Amino acid sequence: MNMNDLPDNPYLLLTPGPLSTTKTVKGAMLRDWCTWDSDYNNLVQEIRARLVKLATKHVPEYTAVLMQGSGTFSVEAVIGSAVPREGKLLVLANGAYGSRIAQIAQVLGIATVIQDSGETSLPSLDKLEEMLARDQAVTHVAVVHCETTTGILNPIADIGEIVKKHDKVFIVDAMSSFGGMEMDISALNIDFLISSANKCLQGVPGFGLIIARTRELLKCGRRARSLSLDLYDQWETMEKHGGKWRYTSPTHVVRAFYQALLELEEEGGIPARSQRYRENQRCLAEGMAELGFQVLLDPSIQSPIITSFYFPDHPDFRFTVFYQTLKEQGFVIYPGKISHADTFRIGNIGDVHLEDIKRLLLAVKNSCYWVR
Ligand SMILES: *Cc1c(COP(=O)(O)O)cnc(C)c1O
Repeated sequence: MNMNDLPDNPYLLLTPGPLSTTKTVKGAMLRDWCTWDSDYNNLVQEIRARLVKLATKHVPEYTAVLMQGSGTFSVEAVIGSAVPREGKLLVLANGAYGSRIAQIAQVLGIATVIQDSGETSLPSLDKLEEMLARDQAVTHVAVVHCETTTGILNPIADIGEIVKKHDKVFIVDAMSSFGGMEMDISALNIDFLISSANKCLQGVPGFGLIIARTRELLKCGRRARSLSLDLYDQWETMEKHGGKWRYTSPTHVVRAFYQALLELEEEGGIPARSQRYRENQRCLAEGMAELGFQVLLDPSIQSPIITSFYFPDHPDFRFTVFYQTLKEQGFVIYPGKISHADTFRIGNIGDVHLEDIKRLLLAVKNSCYWVR
């Protein structure tokens, strides 16, 4: 089948996952796979190897695990499998996804301490130092890289240095940044990095991925508080049985993800993709500013992934109408997710290019009669 024969999507998703994928990624799902056959299992092994290479130059230190479910399932698998019974987790939170990490730990009965810096500011490094010096019981520290709630970008390099200085295990939810920003998780002192198929790697939803320092993962045997979300067991099965998952895996999604990884390579890898995203975001922020929209975050802490804008100060602005009008013109945006201000969000990741952002800006202009 020629992929161009696949129907066009009625609109572009400007949401940070699920996001717009290419027709060739969607087309890769048009075949059924056997979960125990070597064709499929070799594909899984190839994906795992590619993921580690994307994450670090220090390949032998790390390993990759794939886990069924949305990204949150993988976060829960890491928190529930990495922190031992007598351990304690410190969470740096500045948005819904940071808070979710703490919530997971609390549901699992893990001792947790939270440093919440509010939705629009970075975690305090001094306070982190102080908390780690004071509370010797803390064994693990978790933070979100790009907090998708607002688009704030947390300083994981600085945080990782402090965490390592105190010899703690460092967990990073890089769900909405991995694949879209250059990073080396070894240089960043990361022990467990979590992401998912349907964000910057531009696959479709269905599984999450964990890139773990093998030395730390090996300590996780029999620690898990859940059977199906046991990270160690999942890894051990994949290792021992050459790419086999425990329980049914999302075969079509995995095949599509492999195609997405090939397309990432064709694009020029993460450096080229991150540049495309940065240009998209810059064009978006500048174009919206010209139309009178104000960004929520200071540019110094703004990620190249998703941008929050204040509602314009005009009596005729209604978000629901704005949303619908943009959708009719072929763009789906995101409502805001913060408590203290009226905002909306526009993501610029996925199969989204500068021409799309330029078309979006025209559509925004068409949706607000007071803008000229
Ligand atoms: C998308 C996302 C998640 C996971 O959300 P799911 O809905 O479970 O896929 C977690 N953390 C961050 C920062 C995210 O952007």
